[in-house]
Amino acid sequence: MITAYCTWCVNVGISIATSLIAQSFYERRYSVTIDSNNALIFDIQRYSLHDGPGIRTVIFFKGCTLQCKWCCNPESQLFNTEVEFIEELCINCNLCIKECRSDAINTNHNKSYEKYRINKSNCTNCGACARVCPSGALKIIGKSVKKEDVMREIMKDVKYYLKSGGGITLSGGEPLAQPEFCAELLKKCYNKNIHTAVETAGSVPEWNVDKVKDYVDLFLYDIKCIDPNLHKNLTGKTNSLILSNIRRLRNYGKEVIIRVPLIPQNNFYIDEIKGILELADNLGIKEVNIMPYHNLGHIKYQRLCKKYELKNLKSLKFADDFEEQMCKLNYLFSLYKHINIVIGG
Ligand code: SF4
Ligand code: SF4
Repeated sequence: MITAYCTWCVNVGISIATSLIAQSFYERRYSVTIDSNNALIFDIQRYSLHDGPGIRTVIFFKGCTLQCKWCCNPESQLFNTEVEFIEELCINCNLCIKECRSDAINTNHNKSYEKYRINKSNCTNCGACARVCPSGALKIIGKSVKKEDVMREIMKDVKYYLKSGGGITLSGGEPLAQPEFCAELLKKCYNKNIHTAVETAGSVPEWNVDKVKDYVDLFLYDIKCIDPNLHKNLTGKTNSLILSNIRRLRNYGKEVIIRVPLIPQNNFYIDEIKGILELADNLGIKEVNIMPYHNLGHIKYQRLCKKYELKNLKSLKFADDFEEQMCKLNYLFSLYKHINIVIGG
């Protein structure tokens, strides 16, 4: 009992300390406040047919606790606003170069391999260049939003949620890295009988999960792989918190769908997939979504002036041994007939 109390205190302490450090960082450098009323997001998508049942509004939170090598939403990774450059819209007026006080805009980026328009090591993400760009070639990614503003967006489609069995999904990035805001937003929706889902990678303190759990109908829970060393190599962190949080949610009786990104030469090993299905089976999880790798995200890296490590990795369907791998997978899936395994999700 004493141990449980102490663990809870430590988790709360860590979470509050993390929030305070993150908050002072945002306020000092980017004038962005993160609390129960304010969040940093990078998109709100209405009429989504993915990420949960029915027609949904999906809120994408900015900032992620993992750094997956294959991430197809690199704009979601950092806990701050940033600037992207859309080359084809640029009219070469050079206003951005005059405006930048940090000498962060390269003029000869086309002439040298892997030299980008924005030099990220100089850029402070002040956004001044994007504000003067007349053509929209420079754009600020990420904005601070208030709970009431997000609720107003959500409420626009209430009739569609009711007719289709849909609702809202918090996605990202990692929504549970902004737990106070998520808890307040989810509570408001839950109390209005709007279906609520959270898409999470689960790599957050247990306290963050506990904060939201009572207001969530469905967790879409990413599991990248089972082996902790492989996990650390692919995402920057081991999966111990992820695995303890998914067990925690199931102990609370929460509905969970596991989502597995299938990345050739990274986590696509039959033993790993088997381990994940075994975990689902042990926890009584009824659905697993397999998300095959595609490389459509590489253009986003280019625009964000970031290097994409998997640039040369082909989409799964174009892999040389695609047929052979699919045969092995189909056999494996046939051993878990009681789990609804959906390709795509
Ligand atoms: S966002 Fe970066 S590139 Fe743009 S003006 Fe500020 S420092 Fe310069
Ligand atoms: S201000 Fe915009 S259009 Fe002008 S050079 Fe810069 S990026 Fe191109």
